[in-house]
Amino acid sequence: MQYADSDQAQELAERARALMDEVVLPIERERSGGMTVSSGTVADLRQSAREYDVYAPQISEAYGGMGMSFRDALPVFEEAGRSLLGPVAMRVDAPDEGNMHLLELAGDEIQKETYLEPLVKGELKSGFSMTEPMQGAGSDPKMIRTTAEKDAAEGTTASRDGDEWVINGHKWWTTQGVEADVLFVLARTDPDAHPYEGCSLFIVPTDADGVEIVRDVPHMGGGPRGASHAEIRYENVRVPEEHLLGELNRGFTHAQERLGPARLTHCMRFSGMAQRALEIAKAYTSEREGFGSTLSEKQSLRYRIADAETRLHVARTAIRDAADRIDAGDEARIPVSMCKVFTANVTQDAIDLAVQCCGANGIGKDLPLADFYESVRQFRIVDGADEVHRRVIARDAFEDVAREELEPLTRFGDPNGRSGGSTDTH
Ligand SMILES: Cc1cc2nc3c(=O)[nH]c(=O)nc-3n(C[C@H](O)[C@H](O)[C@H](O)COP(=O)(O)OP(=O)(O)OC[C@H]3O[C@@H](n4cnc5c(N)ncnc54)[C@H](O)[C@@H]3O)c2cc1C
Repeated sequence: MQYADSDQAQELAERARALMDEVVLPIERERSGGMTVSSGTVADLRQSAREYDVYAPQISEAYGGMGMSFRDALPVFEEAGRSLLGPVAMRVDAPDEGNMHLLELAGDEIQKETYLEPLVKGELKSGFSMTEPMQGAGSDPKMIRTTAEKDAAEGTTASRDGDEWVINGHKWWTTQGVEADVLFVLARTDPDAHPYEGCSLFIVPTDADGVEIVRDVPHMGGGPRGASHAEIRYENVRVPEEHLLGELNRGFTHAQERLGPARLTHCMRFSGMAQRALEIAKAYTSEREGFGSTLSEKQSLRYRIADAETRLHVARTAIRDAADRIDAGDEARIPVSMCKVFTANVTQDAIDLAVQCCGANGIGKDLPLADFYESVRQFRIVDGADEVHRRVIARDAFEDVAREELEPLTRFGDPNGRSGGSTDTH
């Protein structure tokens, strides 16, 4: 399917497809069986992505990326999503991709030099620590309980320069938290303000005193790098003032600046995964015979593939529309929520269909479908569950209700009920 992508975006996508077909997919096929890959393989893949000129397209050149606009980088994310190894190779992998975006938007020059540049190079790993165990922040992030309070640095008297932030809290589901070198932590900094106006983001090195990585929460799906989803306690963790990321008490705004585009980049990667799942399903059903023909000739399967292709096309079109709006400076909250819910469900259904089409080979791990299946389920929960995005969409949908549409209706006991249809004599 062709889209109205710019020439530059199309060229980039062609190079990304070549990298996928010539380097990434052969490695993925060699390592069938849901195996994780070593850091050496990751380094080789990243070197290849540099040689194909598709490494970190979304990051400014100043910090080691290619400086593409969000919209122009989009087709690369789709191509990368065709394999679980693709995003890792091109450095468009979550959660680092979203965290790099956050640093680029909200970080000061020292923070960018210290954390963004090494992240882009792949020398550091990061985690974003917002979700908390019950009854803390989850679908309703206003329930946040982690705090950060100002205190005089140990051994100093209280002064602007000597102040430190002391963080106390309990987070979990921090993706890559076990492996991370640095964590971006959301905490309440003004307990009297509404959470949206009273929270801030902090850069916390994982080796800071008081950071306890409790465990990798056992979970469905692993991914090729076996990334963890960590439970973390923050107990009297002290960071200097310079570790405040962005503006004080604007943590939710910055988190939203991270999550909006990150939701869309999830959509792009997952739509690539759906595309590949359907490619595998079409290949399998075109070769496999049964009941006197190939499976691809059975109309019931053809119709289901047709429906999946149609829905995927609608998702990819909507994602491009939302990306255009973001590039134009719009937050695009509603279009992004629509994309997130729709693409998550379209992708999940497409992968489920592909598993069904491939029979036992859909469940086996010689093909990547079983890994895709395990990986996609989280997409309907992470970065806002379906219901939370539907809530946002519905709130907007009900904002301007056209009550005049019901003027012709008669209410119970209405003395001026309509006496019958009128005839227009003109
Ligand atoms: C694989 C994975 C990776 C993650 N990575 C990170 C990360 O890196 N950093 C981080 O901070 N968090 C991360 N999370 C956490 C994720 O963002 C939260 O799980 C998500 O926001 C939902 O919060 P919760 O799990 O507390 O669900 P709850 O708030 O307990 O909600 C449970 C369910 O209730 C339903 N629900 C919620 N609200 C409503 C409503 N208003 N109406 C109807 N139904 C509703 C939804 O179906 C929801 O799934 C990750 C989660 C997963 C699964």
